[in-house]
Amino acid sequence: MTLVKAIRRFTVRTVLPEPIRPLARLANNLRWSWHRPTRDLFASLDPKLWAESNHDPVTLLGSIGREQLDRLASDGELVERVHDAAANLDRYLSEPRWYQGLGEDAPACIAYFSPEFGITEVLPQYSGGLGILAGDHLKAASDLGVPLIGVGLLYQAGYFKQSLSRDAWQQETYPVLDPDGLPLTLLREPSDDGTGRPVIITLPLPNGRKLNAQVWRADVGRVPLLLLDSNVSGNDDAARGITDRLYGGGGDHRLQQELLLGMGGVKALRAYQRLTGTPAPEVFHTNEGHAGFLGIERIQELMSAESPLNWDEALAAGRASTVFTTHTPVPAGIDRFEAVQIRHFFEAGLAPSVPVDRILELGRENYDGGNPAVFNMAVMGLRLAQRANGVAKLHGVVSREMFSGLWPGFDHSEVPITSVTNGVHVPSWVDPRISELAGTQFGAEAGEPGRWDLAYNVSDEDIWALRRELRVSLVEDVRRRLRASWKKRGAADAELGWTDTVLDPDVLTIGFARRVPTYKRLTLMLRDPKRLKALLLDKKHPIQLVIAGKSHPADDAGKKMIQDLVRFTDDPEVRHRIVFLPNYDIAMARTLFPGCDVWLNNPLRPLEACGTSGMKAAINGSLNLSVLDGWWDEMYDGENGWAIPTANNGASPEDRDDIEAAALYELLETQVAPRFYGSVVAEGAGAAGPSESAPQAVPTHWVSMIKHTLAKLGPAVSAERMLQDYVNRLYCPAAVSGRRAAAGSFKEAKDLAAWTTRVRNAWPQLVVEHVDSVGVTEEPRVGDNLHVNAYIALRSLTPDDVCVEIAYGRAEESDELDDVTVSELTTFEELGNGRYLFSGSVLINRSGSFGYTVRVLPNNPALASKAELGLIANA
Ligand SMILES: *Cc1c(COP(=O)(O)O)cnc(C)c1O
Repeated sequence: MTLVKAIRRFTVRTVLPEPIRPLARLANNLRWSWHRPTRDLFASLDPKLWAESNHDPVTLLGSIGREQLDRLASDGELVERVHDAAANLDRYLSEPRWYQGLGEDAPACIAYFSPEFGITEVLPQYSGGLGILAGDHLKAASDLGVPLIGVGLLYQAGYFKQSLSRDAWQQETYPVLDPDGLPLTLLREPSDDGTGRPVIITLPLPNGRKLNAQVWRADVGRVPLLLLDSNVSGNDDAARGITDRLYGGGGDHRLQQELLLGMGGVKALRAYQRLTGTPAPEVFHTNEGHAGFLGIERIQELMSAESPLNWDEALAAGRASTVFTTHTPVPAGIDRFEAVQIRHFFEAGLAPSVPVDRILELGRENYDGGNPAVFNMAVMGLRLAQRANGVAKLHGVVSREMFSGLWPGFDHSEVPITSVTNGVHVPSWVDPRISELAGTQFGAEAGEPGRWDLAYNVSDEDIWALRRELRVSLVEDVRRRLRASWKKRGAADAELGWTDTVLDPDVLTIGFARRVPTYKRLTLMLRDPKRLKALLLDKKHPIQLVIAGKSHPADDAGKKMIQDLVRFTDDPEVRHRIVFLPNYDIAMARTLFPGCDVWLNNPLRPLEACGTSGMKAAINGSLNLSVLDGWWDEMYDGENGWAIPTANNGASPEDRDDIEAAALYELLETQVAPRFYGSVVAEGAGAAGPSESAPQAVPTHWVSMIKHTLAKLGPAVSAERMLQDYVNRLYCPAAVSGRRAAAGSFKEAKDLAAWTTRVRNAWPQLVVEHVDSVGVTEEPRVGDNLHVNAYIALRSLTPDDVCVEIAYGRAEESDELDDVTVSELTTFEELGNGRYLFSGSVLINRSGSFGYTVRVLPNNPALASKAELGLIANA
């Protein structure tokens, strides 16, 4: 086994004949995974081996024989294509792109930490949406020239491969990956011949043990991705197994993965900087709580530096340049450890300069409903980052509410968690036939500003013909996969003739594929099996369903849902119209999204933070049929798909499923299917004949919805838009804050830390003693001026330390304010003894019940928001 590994590497790196040697470089930069011409080049070397290698260039090059390589090297035309492709890659890696046009505020480097990265099926280091998103983040950063470095772990087995038993129970296998056969480069100390010893990162563990890790680099276009791997000879067996699989085990195993990711990740970054001369990251982005320990390692660095900062100063400096993204509105989805477990590990000397009690405070759930014995990674993430966000507008609202306990006294709307809606990397997810159809009209290729609006110029006939072509590809793929799945389940070829005719390329095709946690409700469609059957078998307007998804290995409820669904699909009466495909992954997804006419999504609102699969469907001209959750809540516009209504009237979970399933059936029956078959007259589009009279006629209303979807959603759901949002709204401000905090030997961080301590200590004594208003009669009218006086005892604080506000709006019966406007009371008069009179006036600009209140907040230009410290004094 070891010998085979070595030869494969040797073949790729050195034995390629000189004329085609650049192929090694092309195989090692993952840009091939989204750059169609490079993929086509690899495919053309040997189409059969390309298919056998599962479209993996490294494997392909390793399996082409010596003679064939020589033949390729003497093919002048091929050699030219290889050199053109290499020149194209070099240009891509070096030319100025969008980011290079930004000003000085833009950070010189951004570190992006994530527990998983889904870049290509060749590097299976992802379990679902979080990983795919991280992969798309790196790819879009590369396309835009954003100087980002990814940091993660290299799992020996990645996530599991899924198959089914005869009785439809999920089976998991963990094929072990061979890093030498992957497009990865080991980080080594410098040496003359390039074989310096590998860089080793070390973390101390309890009982005198050590956790060592080597560091692999994957090149994602312009973006390096560093992956830590604990499978090294210096480790004992337990330490070797820390990066064995993605989310393997729980408890200590998982905690050590996260310690390695966060703390080891920063050490790996420092080694990479030292070896390559890359500028130090000016912003650290923590993608979900799992990576949160990176903040502790940075505090450790600052507290052990030559002129060390104290805890408060190091925290202020670290926070200033950290961005935290939360991804789940499901409390069970948040990582929590026992506080004693955290203490146990840190007392082994993981961060020797940092007081362990302070670390424990960061993750403590010291708010209503929290559990003080628990260490919460999301809570720590929020406390270690000055800027935080959710991943869709609705998720922002839900996150502000979910974490409001950390900002007591504030209105939920003021909790300092913003949102950046996720996006998808278009060149990775758009079917090449979609981009070809309009040629340059769409401009969906990397680097070109997408002119999605030009989708309106494509003829209805062309769009409809292409939709069928994409559906045909999916049907063929489904038949192949279904047969393979049944063979795995123990069926003989003779029993499987029926799989050749499964699905119909002219039937309305609906897709549903994602992980299978309970809230995503894989089996909602089975709520009324008779009704589903009737929809599938409808004579005039049949539908067909393609379903896929993996359940977490420890989630038997999810596996039971898969089993229920597969048992339904096994029924000979319907099995030609509904299929479950095992082992959902990036490769399957790429055929599935374009091939479906409709993408179904029916989570329990609002538990889907964003959801990205519907976005991938949209850029391929599939229409979304979804609960108004995640991204769909902000992007559904009535003409780009359908909204499944939510039974949010307090119905029981059972009733809610019944009501929402019934609404889904109803939509399919009365809206979706008739429109697909052209039986519904499009508003203002004249008469489209019913399907019997013109079965293949173009359904004009449907096609107009496709064009509208491409034109409107294309730009909105792209990962480039997402990256630009992150850069403009979070990375640049964080870089500015971080630089200011660090300038002059951390003067601002020190000042802020001292000021924060002073304000925190003084805050309990601060009182809004009395508020009165003048100038308003018993019967105020619109246009009257309300003059407000607030008598405030600041005690040891000064008016410069605070911001005094009047908040006014419509007063509800409960005295709660609605439609609140805030304005500052800026003039004050000193009354002695630390007491002040603040005053100001507001114009009463509305009729009806009017209410106001006065409140005091800390004020310092180094704060990113007034709510940041969680301090407020309300009248
Ligand atoms: C896009 C994608 C996901 C995430 O889908 P959601 O809609 O966010 O649940 C998961 N797995 C694969 C393979 C994907 O391509």
